[in-house]
Amino acid sequence: MAEPERFDVVIVGGGPAGQAAAIALAGHSLSIAVIDEQMRPGGQILRQPPAGFTVANWLADRSYAPLKDQLDRFGQLENVSWLGGHSAIGLQAGSIVASGPDGMRTIAADRILIAAGCQDLAVPLPGWTLPGVYAAGGIQAFTKSQQLLAGRRVLLAGTHPLQLIIAAQIVAAGGTVAAVLFAQPRAAMVRALARHPLTALGRLSDLFTARAAMATLARSGTPVRYDVSLSALTGRDRVSGATTSAGDLQCDAAGLCYGFVPQSALPRMAGARMVAAGPAGGWACVHDDWMRTSVPGLYAAGETVGVAGAAAAAAGGELAGLGIALDLGLLDTKAAHRSAQGARRQLARHRAFASLLDTAADPRAFFPAPDSGTIVCRCEDIEHGILSERVSAGDSANAVKLATRCGMGVCQGRNCEPTLLRMISAARGPNDAGFTARFPARPLAIADLLAPD
Ligand SMILES: Cc1cc2nc3c(=O)[nH]c(=O)nc-3n(C[C@H](O)[C@H](O)[C@H](O)COP(=O)(O)OP(=O)(O)OC[C@H]3O[C@@H](n4cnc5c(N)ncnc54)[C@H](O)[C@@H]3O)c2cc1C
Repeated sequence: MAEPERFDVVIVGGGPAGQAAAIALAGHSLSIAVIDEQMRPGGQILRQPPAGFTVANWLADRSYAPLKDQLDRFGQLENVSWLGGHSAIGLQAGSIVASGPDGMRTIAADRILIAAGCQDLAVPLPGWTLPGVYAAGGIQAFTKSQQLLAGRRVLLAGTHPLQLIIAAQIVAAGGTVAAVLFAQPRAAMVRALARHPLTALGRLSDLFTARAAMATLARSGTPVRYDVSLSALTGRDRVSGATTSAGDLQCDAAGLCYGFVPQSALPRMAGARMVAAGPAGGWACVHDDWMRTSVPGLYAAGETVGVAGAAAAAAGGELAGLGIALDLGLLDTKAAHRSAQGARRQLARHRAFASLLDTAADPRAFFPAPDSGTIVCRCEDIEHGILSERVSAGDSANAVKLATRCGMGVCQGRNCEPTLLRMISAARGPNDAGFTARFPARPLAIADLLAPD
């Protein structure tokens, strides 16, 4: 391989956390590269339309205003090289391997920040591999960035309140939502939020956003049902209906919304210390007050350290930026602490609310039951029954992977690992360390591996 390109700082992720870190480092004359699979910055929450597309009223709700403002400030930074359309596929101390339109490249940096966000939790149930069935965030990505509707009659089901916002966005884009189904009783959600009323009230804007979404759904006549569980999605060539505890429903697209798990492949690959993330599962990267991980020179922020929303991600990103400046000797400790005060307060406030939300949306008692023929690992077509046999035989996650190829496909276990770990935990308790993270973290063309440089 050719000599690696070198930057002072490399940030993986151009969402709220990555942008905030870059902004916090502005003015220090550092060379910064920001790598993102998306062509344009914004992360999952903004999902900018492709360059050259115009989307009328793109994310017009005022709750997006602070994020759009941050995006503008990020766009004005002059010392940032934006590497959009590039996936970070390998990480070790001091360097990152990325793949993009021109193949693979190695990028070295003294300081690397992983701000890779989160992803929808994949939830296997009978019929979930039918065309037309999505993770709810996937449906939202189409709607947000291009106003594309996933179907004519979309069903949303799960336990996470984000499905209300997604349903309202579909309605606002001219679509029809067959129903929004919460598996948990409404009273349980209200009780969870009411347990710490001041924390909940501290995030009034989120409560208003949810209330506005409910009003949009009520005006459109969209049913929002609680205590209704989904047991199967049905259809021949694509999804055409759903079997639920309240009867059958018709739909031509369905979004599953049971929660989010951190994108953890890169810090795990680098050997950073991880802990079990929230009730939805997954792994969160352990960090100190300046977002340093257990690996020297490696930092983590945003939802890579736990799912807590965009405002918490931005606050954590700012702390990471300040921490990097401190460690590079560009700020003294006193100045760094002074600059970090606001972000620390914000982070604590938003994390407290996120923990209430975790309780209100806890999916663990409400997962649909797969049958033995339900595919769990979609990359390698491994069925639930096969995994059950291996788990009953006492296999660890890595042993199941070796025996069945579960988790060895293009997604490298990002989708099936939480299900397998739930199965192992139900059988023997929650002590399995999960799959060993392997290169590459994202799919890449074999030609890129073979190409001379
Ligand atoms: C599909 C989806 C939809 C969501 N919608 C909402 C919403 O409407 N409202 C809300 O409050 N919260 C939403 N969330 C939660 C939301 O993502 C966060 O609150 C917020 O965007 C987190 O900011 P972040 O900077 O941590 O991560 P993100 O905004 O997710 O940014 C991370 C970025 O890293 C990039 N990335 C990840 N891995 C790699 C890699 N290996 N190589 C290169 N780039 C990489 C991603 O492309 C992404 O742009 C959503 C989450 C998901 C997954």
